[in-house]
Amino acid sequence: MELKGQVAFVTGGARGIGRSIAGELASKGARIALGDLNLEDAAATAEALRAGGADCAAYGLDVSRAEDVEKAFEAVKNNFGRLDILVNNAGITRDGLLMRMKPEDWDMVINVNLRSVFLCSREAVKIMSRQRYGRIVSIASVVAFMGNPGQVNYGASKAGIVGLTKTIAKEYAGRGITANAVAPGFIVTAMTEKLPQEVRNQMMAAIPSGKFGTPEDVAHAVSFFCSPGAGYVTGQVMHVNGGMYM
Ligand code: NAP
Repeated sequence: MELKGQVAFVTGGARGIGRSIAGELASKGARIALGDLNLEDAAATAEALRAGGADCAAYGLDVSRAEDVEKAFEAVKNNFGRLDILVNNAGITRDGLLMRMKPEDWDMVINVNLRSVFLCSREAVKIMSRQRYGRIVSIASVVAFMGNPGQVNYGASKAGIVGLTKTIAKEYAGRGITANAVAPGFIVTAMTEKLPQEVRNQMMAAIPSGKFGTPEDVAHAVSFFCSPGAGYVTGQVMHVNGGMYM
């Protein structure tokens, strides 16, 4: 129970990788604040975590909206009294080849995937700085490092997370706050289930371990960065991809 008494805010925590991260951190004793666009789904996930013995509350927010983010962090601070861990997990795709990509799809992905990390991390460091302790972990992607046809917006947003993470790491190391990123490869969730079989086959052929990853594979990596023992590890990216990129 190495996270006992700590409070973790997980964005996009209602399902997929975020839900698994919330479960993993709860299993280590953390109290969980789940933030998601869909409050109903987040409340159902929070209920499931409470049934397993966790202290968990759900918050509805659009992570790309400053007003929503400020309100959610205020509520978390009021309900839990502190914040030790922020996991920037919420993310979306709006795929299309460069020539055909609509500016709205570019903006939407950059806002939900990257602006959100700026907004949430900004609120988190205000609380963590006073505590002289914090762990910020953001979910990037293998696409930030390898590129992927049809994902100029997504690849740019995830590469942006890496630069943002390294800069937060430098700005707040002196306050006991670490900032790291986890870059998953192909993980089986609703996000990847919608990909055509042909794309899935191509992906599989490029994975040396011969299998797709699970949300739990990502959650274990996040959990390491969140642990008290990882205090000297900052500005790093951990790749969780079965050897697809190294
Ligand atoms: P997912 O199953 O689609 O879940 C994403 C969650 O984020 C959903 O609960 C969604 O809520 C929420 N969300 C979306 N937009 C939001 C917003 N504006 N504000 C608040 N919450 C929002 O996705 P996933 O596969 O678990 O992905 C989680 C993260 O891992 C993402 O950042 C993704 O880019 C990254 N990642 C995934 C893979 C993969 O292979 N799956 C690989 C690399 C990186 P709704 O249900 O309301 O939409």
